[in-house]
Amino acid sequence: MAGQDYGRIYRDRRYEMVEQLKRYGITNTRVLEAFLSVERHLFFDPENREHAYDDCAFPIGCGQTISQPYTVAYMTSMLVERCPSGTVLEIGTGSGYQAAILDFMGYSVYTVERIPELFRRSLGVFKALGLKIHQHLGDGTLGWKDEAPFNGIIVTAGAPDPPPTLLEQLADNGVMIIPIGGSTGQQMTVITRNGNTLQQEAFHSFAFVPLIGREGWMDG
Ligand code: SAM
Repeated sequence: MAGQDYGRIYRDRRYEMVEQLKRYGITNTRVLEAFLSVERHLFFDPENREHAYDDCAFPIGCGQTISQPYTVAYMTSMLVERCPSGTVLEIGTGSGYQAAILDFMGYSVYTVERIPELFRRSLGVFKALGLKIHQHLGDGTLGWKDEAPFNGIIVTAGAPDPPPTLLEQLADNGVMIIPIGGSTGQQMTVITRNGNTLQQEAFHSFAFVPLIGREGWMDG
C-alpha cells in the first residue's frame, strides 16, 4: 500500500459505509453526515485501521469492542429523533468513536469508562483531534452526579436492568437509550422521562459486552 493516498481511500470507505447504513434503513441526515465526516480509522490502533470501515464490531483490547457501525448509527438515530440537542451522557467510552459522533452532531458530550487503559487511550485520541469531550474514569452505572441532569443518556454496554441512579440523572423529557437483557443478547430500549413518570419501549435485539458495575453485572 506504499505511496497510496490514504486520506482518499478512507474517505471512499466512509462513503461506502454510509451507503450501507442507508441500505440498512438509517435515514437521519445528521447521523449520516456525522458518519461521513468522523474519521473512524483514527479510533483504531494503526495496525488495525484497514478494518475500521468493516461492517462488524472489532476488538479494541481489554476484552472490549468498538460496536458495529450499524449499531452506533441505530442508537444515535434513536437518540437524535427524541433528543435533538443538549447534554448527553455516554456510558462506555471504549474507543471514543460514539462520543465523537455525538460531539460532531453538536451535543455537549460527557462519557464514562471503567477501564483505565481505554480511558487513557480515548483521552489521547480526543486530545489529538481537538475534541472537547468531558471524560470520567469510573463506574458508569452510577452516572455523573455533578453534571446531571442530562437530556440524553446512551449506554453502550448490555445491562440486566436500567440502572436506577442513571434514571435519576435523566432530565425531564430526557431520553435514555440502553440495551437491556441477558448476558448473550439484549433488546435496545428507549426510556423517556415525563416528570416522575418513566415510559419504557423495547426495539430490536443486539449483543453487547456487559455493563459491569454496582448497578449492572458483577465483575467476573
Ligand atoms: N462506545 C464505545 C465506542 O464507541 O467504541 C464502545 C463501547 S464497548 C461496546 C462497551 C464499553 O463499556 C467498554 O469499553 C467497557 O469497558 C465499558 N463499560 C462496561 N461497563 C461499564 C461501566 N460500568 N462504566 C463505564 N464503562 C463501562
